[in-house]
Amino acid sequence: METVKLPSGVSIPKITPEEAERRCYLSKDMLDMMHLSPVGQPAACSGEGDDLTFYYDPARVTEAAPELWYKPMMDEHEPVDVIELPSGAEVEKLSTMRAAAMGFYTRERLDQMNYDVVEEPVAYNLRSDGTMIYFYDKRTAVRRPLKCTVCGKDVRYKRKMCRACFERDLAIRRAEGDAYREQSFGMERERVLFFDLELTGVYDHDEIISVSITNGAGEVLMDTLVKPLRKKKWNRTEKIHGISPAMVQDAPLLDEIIPTLKEMFANADNLIAFGVSTDYSHIKYIYDSISEQEALRKKARCCALEFVRIQSEHYPDENHASLVDAMRTLGIGWDGIPHSSIADTIACMKVWEALFPHYYTTPMPELPDYSAMTPAAAPAFNEATGEYVDRDRTPAVHTETTEEAESEIETDLPHANKEESHV
Ligand SMILES: [Zn+2]
Repeated sequence: METVKLPSGVSIPKITPEEAERRCYLSKDMLDMMHLSPVGQPAACSGEGDDLTFYYDPARVTEAAPELWYKPMMDEHEPVDVIELPSGAEVEKLSTMRAAAMGFYTRERLDQMNYDVVEEPVAYNLRSDGTMIYFYDKRTAVRRPLKCTVCGKDVRYKRKMCRACFERDLAIRRAEGDAYREQSFGMERERVLFFDLELTGVYDHDEIISVSITNGAGEVLMDTLVKPLRKKKWNRTEKIHGISPAMVQDAPLLDEIIPTLKEMFANADNLIAFGVSTDYSHIKYIYDSISEQEALRKKARCCALEFVRIQSEHYPDENHASLVDAMRTLGIGWDGIPHSSIADTIACMKVWEALFPHYYTTPMPELPDYSAMTPAAAPAFNEATGEYVDRDRTPAVHTETTEEAESEIETDLPHANKEESHV
């Protein structure tokens, strides 16, 4: 559809007068007759070049100020003082009150209202000393970025705060976060499990097709493919995790490993994954009762959320929070094939260790040589790029609300980006 760009930067569709009528839009003339004033930008327009008719959405109009009610009639009867601007446009003389009622203000007044004038004047008036006052349409002026919610003075930078207030707030959050991470949690390495699942898809009806589990001591407790009960193919996710239906043909069914899983979980105090909510929402079904599922949920911890926290406190300019980002940011090397299920599980364990140096009662033991391991689930290889396809290791992290987002120049909390691919 053809659009017309208003000086404010907003584009509105160009429609026929018939279409405007069908949508029940009102032209400026009709609004005047009905003693109404538009609120905000027109919804559409018709016509060509300088001869445009603007249409307004009737849901976005307001009662016009009484002094405007008879403006169309006054226009007919009163001679209007019109002057020509250098551009050739003609503007009429209005009293300051009438101008304000029409949403026209001086540059100074708009400046106070935090608007920048970008268009030429729409009306004028003369001071008693004969000097000219120009009025500008507030609807075509551009609102400047919002002010800091803390000091109220400077323009926002991040998290609805100006740079100085943001830095101050960041220092406080960083100190709190550091103190939290530095705590001694008193956990036993054997009773903290890290896990990663591969699924046929992201929905509830999707099935688990691989399970990898290590403990805090770095021991691989499980790394197995799982044969799904119902799903016969999963083309979309196969491209990501590289697990084909043929590969799981001889793998155990989930039912066969459930007793082992239950025993492991029963002996664990924590169950940690990078983006735990997806994994939890599938693994919980090894339990039939809500109370057992709830008990498991209480043990679950999300490594991604903790990484997002340290990232927002120490690397506020970074805004991707995949497991690969966490490894790179914290300077940790990969074991085995990056993105394979077991390598991701080991990576998660190491990220946790880096985030919480006093999580366990004992120092980290020497880790086995994982590189010799053949992972149960290897990632898909992209022939075109010669790289392993990055699996979706991204957590569901909620950023701040998007209200007032139109005028924000901030990035808020770093959040996971699903599109980015890595080596
Ligand atoms: Zn401030």
